Amino acid sequence: MHKISIAGAIIDSVLDCAKKNDANKVEEVFIEIGELTALNPDQLTFIFETITKGTAAEGAKYDIKIVKPRIHCKKCSYSGNIELFEIHHFFLPVIKCPECGDADIDIIAGRECCVKKIRIS
Ligand SMILES: [Zn+2]
Repeated sequence: MHKISIAGAIIDSVLDCAKKNDANKVEEVFIEIGELTALNPDQLTFIFETITKGTAAEGAKYDIKIVKPRIHCKKCSYSGNIELFEIHHFFLPVIKCPECGDADIDIIAGRECCVKKIRIS
């Protein structure tokens, strides 16, 4: 499962960080997730709670921030947000520039999935 492997990678890095800092417990985890990943914060929290049982991160709180997608258009140099309805979550999204309609764009935000910081004790 894609979502579980992403969640597992996040928890691995959290536990690794906690270990390096001699933490007894992970209190809170701050995560940023790009909207283009189609990850659902509620689902992720549920997976985190399940896979952290018996670890230092058991019972931690999760602060998950969704990052809006942003693109840069190579044709007209538009940089900025794209509208949600242009994204199709279940297939490879074809994202077009809202200014000129060209598909030759770079995605500059919206695909991230990273731990910003953790609070430990
Ligand atoms: Zn454009």
